[in-house]
Amino acid sequence: MSNQAAFHNLGLNAHLQRAIHEAGYVDPTPIQSQTIPPILEGRDLVGCAQTGTGKTAAFALPILQLLSTNSKGKYHPKSKLNSRPKKNIRVLVLSPTRELAIQIGDFFSKYGQFNTKVTNTVIFGGVSQNKQVTTLKSGVDILIATPGRLLDLIGQGFISLRHIEILVFDEADRMLDMGFIHDVRRIMKNISSLHQTMLFSATMPKEIVKLAKDFLNNPVNVSVTPNQPTVEKIGQTVYFVAKNEKQSLLLSIVKNPKVSRALVFSRTKHGANKIVKKLMQAGVEAEPIHGNKSQNARQKALKNFRDGNTRILVATDIAARGIDVLNISHVIQFDLPNVSETYVHRIGRTGRAGAGGIAITFCDFEELPLLRDIEKLIQMKISDARNSSKGNKKLLHSMPQINRSKPVKSEKMMNQSSRKNQLKKVNPSLECRQCSRLFGSQMAMLQHIKAKHNSVS
Ligand code: AMP
Repeated sequence: MSNQAAFHNLGLNAHLQRAIHEAGYVDPTPIQSQTIPPILEGRDLVGCAQTGTGKTAAFALPILQLLSTNSKGKYHPKSKLNSRPKKNIRVLVLSPTRELAIQIGDFFSKYGQFNTKVTNTVIFGGVSQNKQVTTLKSGVDILIATPGRLLDLIGQGFISLRHIEILVFDEADRMLDMGFIHDVRRIMKNISSLHQTMLFSATMPKEIVKLAKDFLNNPVNVSVTPNQPTVEKIGQTVYFVAKNEKQSLLLSIVKNPKVSRALVFSRTKHGANKIVKKLMQAGVEAEPIHGNKSQNARQKALKNFRDGNTRILVATDIAARGIDVLNISHVIQFDLPNVSETYVHRIGRTGRAGAGGIAITFCDFEELPLLRDIEKLIQMKISDARNSSKGNKKLLHSMPQINRSKPVKSEKMMNQSSRKNQLKKVNPSLECRQCSRLFGSQMAMLQHIKAKHNSVS
């Protein structure tokens, strides 16, 4: 840490220093020491750093400082709102998932606990709006929101963004991709007084960087370890395994007592339920978390996992980004994600805050092209479990062997994966992020999103 500024040199006030101390942070992480000073100067910013390296504090701390030194934001007399909040909302943080929004709100409350004048609240879909509206009426400085519920409450006249001074896109590449960009543009139309915009993510594909320019004014670019977004402390292995052998492989892995807390990723909601059912039938306690569950069930499952009451959480990609659960020993990808960046986010659920972790990936014949794309993105070859795993050697030898360099594929499989690849080459963002279906045109994808997943938050 010798070349890094200490927290007390970053210009943060005594309230924040105290909260940092209570959180047990000794030194700022690299993303924090490089972003806090320009944010305090009021600069726009793009912050790219590995998952779990303290990005939330990198924007939350300076925002709290800015709001406490400049305490404008009283109720505007010409407000046309249904309610008359005591103060205007000055900061908007957009998050792609409800769970991440809640977590960001918790961090703002934790860091701002000694300056109770700066308030925050979180709004998201899937629950009644009444409590959220009541809090909004009492007035908040910082609003953390998922786009769907935000637009809904703007439409009903409960929220005005006219006085927003600072806008943050967390998981920015996700917020600006095809699934959210239309909502984001609608939200932007409601903001007229913006001074400062920030984008944060662990991954920032080139096409998103181009798009982001529309939202930024002469930004400072902070990129910590730009070329290799995966955290070095995470051990990564891949099991080449036939699709119908994945469940027994999973069972053999999670039975190992070294797997103290595992997050298993499934590509689909149905798949997640099936994995849980089979684990339970085999006597292994597990819980699912995905978009078909009620919000209460989602939060309960995450809490049980956080508190150590559930050892295995089986999730779709709603849990891939940002979710901070300490001491996840293993991330297991039952299916490979179609979008390479998602791999980086998924494995980033382990190895949080400098800790180690193990990421295990199951790859079947059809997924070989996806694995190659991922290895290209992370610029390394993921090690083959057949060469490293002792415990599962017997099991692996009883399975059909898949060769990563010369995949043997049936004609049907070849056609399917080459079509997928062709579509991805045309435009990598023509993939529905909610169910991973690929589309030949933007129009087709938008129609699908509207028909199948009307609500995004
Ligand atoms: P984030 O990347 O914001 O999700 O943060 C990942 C984890 O790092 C969280 O558990 C934070 O509490 C923790 N963290 C953030 N900043 C620091 C710091 N300066 N020192 C130690 N831990 C930190």
